[in-house]
Amino acid sequence: MFFFFIGGVNQQVRQVLKSGVGRCIGCGSRSDLVEYEKVLNLFFIPIKRWPGKEPVMYCDDCKLFFPQSISPPPPPPSVEETRLPSVTDVLKCHYCSREVDADFRFCPFCGSAL
Ligand SMILES: [Zn+2]
Ligand SMILES: [Zn+2]
Repeated sequence: MFFFFIGGVNQQVRQVLKSGVGRCIGCGSRSDLVEYEKVLNLFFIPIKRWPGKEPVMYCDDCKLFFPQSISPPPPPPSVEETRLPSVTDVLKCHYCSREVDADFRFCPFCGSAL
């Protein structure tokens, strides 16, 4: 019966509530908390729509809907965003005792290797 394969119910994003609040259970990329609706299609024409009961997580990469309760926390922001000056980021030059950023390989003040 070919007819049965043409119609179907799809889930569709209505509105993004919060973007990047979780992680996709499929591909691990950031996912959004969305309001969704179910759409009944017949011959690829939407016949009926009704809203989902509660917000769900949605991954735009793999088009996957899943409950927020099983979503892992979002991946940490990139290093640049979280980087704060801290003690571990500062070295002291052995020769001139001045504070040097840990990224330097040579002391900018006296030129000795760190
Ligand atoms: Zn995904
Ligand atoms: Zn130095």
